[in-house]
Amino acid sequence: MTENHSNDICATCGTHYAPGKVPELCPICDDDRQFVPEGGQVWTSSRQLQRRHSVLVRQLYPQVYEIKVIPDFAIAQRAFLVLTASGNILWDCIPLLTEDLVSFIRSKGGLKAIAFSHPHYYSNMNEWAAVFDCPVYIHQKDEQWIFNRGPQVSTWEGGAKTLWEGIKIIHTGGHFPGSAVLHIPPLTPGGAVLCGDSLYIARSRQHIAIQYSYPNHIPLPAKTVREIYDRLLQLPFDTLHGAFDWQNLPGKAKEVLEASVRRYFE
Ligand SMILES: [Zn+2]
Ligand SMILES: [Zn+2]
Repeated sequence: MTENHSNDICATCGTHYAPGKVPELCPICDDDRQFVPEGGQVWTSSRQLQRRHSVLVRQLYPQVYEIKVIPDFAIAQRAFLVLTASGNILWDCIPLLTEDLVSFIRSKGGLKAIAFSHPHYYSNMNEWAAVFDCPVYIHQKDEQWIFNRGPQVSTWEGGAKTLWEGIKIIHTGGHFPGSAVLHIPPLTPGGAVLCGDSLYIARSRQHIAIQYSYPNHIPLPAKTVREIYDRLLQLPFDTLHGAFDWQNLPGKAKEVLEASVRRYFE
């Protein structure tokens, strides 16, 4: 969509900075949860992104699509488009919004809200919010990580923010102070949770890690893991979908979470 030449996109995390307000080092990457590449900070432009990458849309459920930049760019997370009769939700962002993707989302009714698990995926949220004319919901505890705050960004406080049709954003904390998950009760028989990397589903799909940093392997205090676990136990769910395309845990997600958390306390 917006195709400009200015190098205002961090190539390591995909965060878009406001033109003229690009820092020397990306503060999202220059943080102990992330990393600046060995060769130093790399910036790219939306023009380069549009030329070298495209977007893959894949249906996971009749009412949920995963959306991903291909080939991989930056963190390589996926976003989720959640369709409901009361309006659609985008869970997390990807740093590339193409005309085809805008047309596809419009054909499904556009967006009523964008909600985030945490700051690693803010990417070009202002562009998404402007194109679809919808609010962006970010937990207030992560406000300091909003470096490019557009007019649609709105913070929320407390343990949960109710959207509609039983769908809620649930605050977990841990990875970031404002880390959150999206609870979608009607999606599966036992309920589904889109967890970003508030919970990190391992490659084996037999373990879930709850850490301060995944790329740098920094653990969280056991007390924090317990608090997150206690919050999640109150949610009915049997299915988890994480930020990466292999992170699908249908049917037995709560059992895997219980077994994983038990390791912290035995
Ligand atoms: Zn970055
Ligand atoms: Zn993260």
